[in-house]
Amino acid sequence: MTTVWILGDQLLEDHPALAEADPKETVVLFVESQRRGGHLKYHQHKLVLIYAAMRHRAKELRQADWTVDYRSLEKTKDFTAGLKAHLKEYEPERIVLMEPNDWATTQALPKLEKAIKVPMETVPTTMFLVGRGEFAQWAGEKKSLLMESHYRRMRKKLGLLVDENGEPEGGEWNYDSENRQTFSQFKKVAPQVPVLPTSPEADDSDLQDVIGLVAKHFADHPGKAENFWLPVTRASARKWLDSFIKTRLEGFGPWEDTMVEGEPKLFHSVLSPLLNIGLLTPLECVQAAVEAYRKGRAPLSSVEGFVRQIIGWREFVNGIYWHRMPGYTHLNGLGAKRPLPEWVWGEEGKETEMNCLRQSVREVRDSGYNHHIQRLMVLGNYFLLSGTDTAEVLDWYNSMYVDAYDWVMAANVIGMILYADDGYLATKPYAAGSGYINKMSNYCKGCRYKPSVKTGEEACPFNYLYWNFYGEHLARFSKNHRVAFMVKQWEKKSAAEQAAIREQAAAFLAG
Ligand code: FAD
Ligand code: SF4
Repeated sequence: MTTVWILGDQLLEDHPALAEADPKETVVLFVESQRRGGHLKYHQHKLVLIYAAMRHRAKELRQADWTVDYRSLEKTKDFTAGLKAHLKEYEPERIVLMEPNDWATTQALPKLEKAIKVPMETVPTTMFLVGRGEFAQWAGEKKSLLMESHYRRMRKKLGLLVDENGEPEGGEWNYDSENRQTFSQFKKVAPQVPVLPTSPEADDSDLQDVIGLVAKHFADHPGKAENFWLPVTRASARKWLDSFIKTRLEGFGPWEDTMVEGEPKLFHSVLSPLLNIGLLTPLECVQAAVEAYRKGRAPLSSVEGFVRQIIGWREFVNGIYWHRMPGYTHLNGLGAKRPLPEWVWGEEGKETEMNCLRQSVREVRDSGYNHHIQRLMVLGNYFLLSGTDTAEVLDWYNSMYVDAYDWVMAANVIGMILYADDGYLATKPYAAGSGYINKMSNYCKGCRYKPSVKTGEEACPFNYLYWNFYGEHLARFSKNHRVAFMVKQWEKKSAAEQAAIREQAAAFLAG
């Protein structure tokens, strides 16, 4: 008898370990671990998503005549306890699982094997389009990596939006000039933002059980389990994808970077929570988008933008994670060590007065979701400019987001927002003053600060934090030609101006 152990973030319909298995000689094991669920203060919606999706997957496998052993949270302290109870009952000769998606679990397997005294084998993951070895070969010993090169390579490799000579469809690799429209363009066009479908399993009793369980066991975690909003089965994830393709893909490109108060999802796909646990595959998502383009239902600019996010960024951050671990998550190239501010948890009475941050925190507190510009250019920008401790920032993102996993957070936080990997992922820091946020959103309108004011009581803190950041890291950035201009601007300021900026930044961060 063989056990196939299916991990909670590997709920693929075509799980590679099952493809090889004989249902008569196999038990499929699922383990919910109390300790894993409480490792960080994970958002309640993330926990509901994982446990409910695991339970549904187990049910589907039972209906397909597999023998399933489900170790539920109420009775399972940790993975070792779950496995030991399983071994006692089923006595398998070996345990097969797919390569875990994160470093810590991968490292823990030999220890676990020793503890349970049953051989464990892994099969290669099928959750990504680039194998770990293939990416490592491409990345080699390079000091920094260009996402664009990886992306073009992927387009050619997969034959996506390229002609027979490997040239990009439409003549360009990138349609940014048609995408990424500002808030004033949004106001002018006034596009109708489609309503996101409700969770197809809203009335499902298994889901309701999990909601109750999470609310009870993880009561002090962010979010409210009862407001859960996502699909939890493969079938409804497919419908969720179809709905994006039909109603939001067309607007994806132009409004990809726009931020609108009260419209947290806009035209984004909201597919990452489902992709990251295997309810959808990256290839089917991009193929569905390309098909919509072929049928004339979505413009090339939107489709290319979406394809870039998935085969470009998603594969790139996963590749970096495996190429640079261990050690990557501990990098802190800018020496950031300020503790997290208390407003990041969105508790009433402790909110920040900076409206862009306050709105983004409220949205993630309530739903576990922000779109990429809120994560990067609002919250990430604040953490970068304020020098917030990298490990604390990483834990915060991992706790708050419904789609957060170590493999995806590491490069997005360490490399992209905090520039803590010395420019391995990004050629320059994603730092911005208020100008960018004011251009891309309507947040400033409802803010107690003024984006156009540079110093004094009413000044937007991003303005002086921005210059203070370049002042603090002068030596490092003066050698970076992409930001040398900013360094020069700082140097041109009088000593009195520089001192005033430093003082105001210090007072703000202390207060
Ligand atoms: P869309 O805007 O519709 O994009 C389509 C898909 O592209 C996403 O579903 C996702 O699978 C992929 N994608 C786009 N950008 C990235 C990226 N930078 N890295 C990986 N995948 C990407 N994504 C996560 O899946 N989990 C996270 O925990 C996560 N944390 C992030 C933290 C920071 C600081 C930043 C800057 C980005 C993070 N991202 C993360 C990437 C991106 O913000 C989310 O994937 C996206 O916002 C999810 O919403 P969506 O599905 O509506 O995405
Ligand atoms: Fe954010 Fe500054 Fe605009 Fe306020 S004024 S919303 S703090 S960018």
